[in-house]
Amino acid sequence: PGNKAFKLQPHFDRVTSLGARRILSFGGAWSNHLHALAACSRQRGIASVGVIRGEQPAQLSATLADAQHWGMALHFVSRGEYRQRHDAAYCARLARQLQADYVIPEGGADALGVAGCSGIAELVLQRVPAAARVVVAVGTGATLAGLVAGLPRSCHVTGIVALKGDGDLGTRVGEAITATGAMHTAGWNLDTRFHCGGFARSNDALELLVLACERQLGLPLEPVYTGKAMLALQRLRASGEWLPQEPVVLVHTGGLQGRRGFSWLPDQAQCSVREPTGSGVYCGTGSNR
Ligand SMILES: *Cc1c(COP(=O)(O)O)cnc(C)c1O
Repeated sequence: PGNKAFKLQPHFDRVTSLGARRILSFGGAWSNHLHALAACSRQRGIASVGVIRGEQPAQLSATLADAQHWGMALHFVSRGEYRQRHDAAYCARLARQLQADYVIPEGGADALGVAGCSGIAELVLQRVPAAARVVVAVGTGATLAGLVAGLPRSCHVTGIVALKGDGDLGTRVGEAITATGAMHTAGWNLDTRFHCGGFARSNDALELLVLACERQLGLPLEPVYTGKAMLALQRLRASGEWLPQEPVVLVHTGGLQGRRGFSWLPDQAQCSVREPTGSGVYCGTGSNR
């Protein structure tokens, strides 16, 4: 579940229409994208191969162990080689070498991925028809772009950037929204103040908030993406930038499998709330829920 399943859906539609048989994609040792790709590929009976950043470790991460268990072949490349992942000639060569006939970019973050994320907008409108303010975590910005393209002009979406210092992210999100061809889109902005030290980094405030959400609300988060979105929501309200009584929809983008990479987090099995099957999106509204 989570946004990665939405981003993959249009890719699987294409894989089916092309009759492709083996999908190749890219990611790190804790990649939510590769985890989702391995699960969805298995469900659909399609082979997959993951190109992993960095040398093969003595012990696989829990993420890659799952992926391998579900039938994904793992191909480790050096960090230097991994930097070529956006190069079309490199991808074509790699696909030939690994006998893959369909390539999905890292994170599923292309126009098809953006199109798939409009499905999240539909869910938001179904669950909270009066949604006006929406907040979502941002990595590549594909999910934000799909949400903005799929929501009406009466909405405003704030993307909470999980990485430090990606200067042209705003430009790329704008281009991705334009490329959808959507006529009436929601307003949007990026907030870069809540990266907590950088990608996959955390600080005390973030860790305390993730633990408190779980204990007090039974709402599992993870510190890489959804915890930062929640921290932003809390801070923006506390500072008065957002009115405390104004309803906000926080899109829970999933990623809970990645919790296993953090020793300070309790086991996910101890969480009282399970991700709803099918959607992978929670919508909480009101000031204290
Ligand atoms: C990948 C991911 C994001 C970021 O999605 P982008 O489309 O890359 O911006 C947010 N939350 C979770 C849990 C993710 O796995």
